[in-house]
Amino acid sequence: MNILLVEDDAALARALQKALRHEGFSVNHVDCGRDAIDSVASALPDMVVLDLGLPDMDGLAVLKQLRNDRQTLPVLILTAREGVNDKVVGLDGGADDYLSKPFEMDELLARLRVLARRLSTSTSSEITYGAVTLDTASHEICVDEHSIACSRREYMLLKALMENAGRIQTREALESKLYGWGEEVASNTIEVHISHLRKKLPDGFIQTVRGVGYTINNKPLR
Ligand code: CA
Repeated sequence: MNILLVEDDAALARALQKALRHEGFSVNHVDCGRDAIDSVASALPDMVVLDLGLPDMDGLAVLKQLRNDRQTLPVLILTAREGVNDKVVGLDGGADDYLSKPFEMDELLARLRVLARRLSTSTSSEITYGAVTLDTASHEICVDEHSIACSRREYMLLKALMENAGRIQTREALESKLYGWGEEVASNTIEVHISHLRKKLPDGFIQTVRGVGYTINNKPLR
């Protein structure tokens, strides 16, 4: 697994490279946005760890460019900025996960393992977390191996959450997945679908991230 590390803080970059290599990742380090974009095109990394505060370009602009070049490339962003706004913008801009500085190295490694696992399982039609299995081929949702009835939009909502387990899905991102452009969407629509789904799923399966959106914990529930 080949990671591109984009970080201009030399001391942090050294520590990250050491930890990532110790974990068995091979690491290519660059310290500016321009080199990051070049490197994604030439070195074809499996994943990217992207600092948003770069000397030459806004990290979000780099993210956008990476997404244009390689749509499915997993990107974890590092942000030093306070507040949820950057995180929301980053997640909406196509980041798969984020960490705020300062962070624990173990936390970063755990998040990267999740991204790596998702890479290796993304070809199967069944997604399972805990007691819940979603089959993207048959559009069936099972809890404890019993099929449950749900609407098309509930299915799409759960699919978006389960495909991105461990990542927060913002309300805006979910709305855009469930509704076409220009469709009228009431402000509490996602909440209503979530509350219907929760009645059919194990307690705590869908977690609310206050002020941001929803997530499914990627840790086994039992
Ligand atoms: Ca920086």
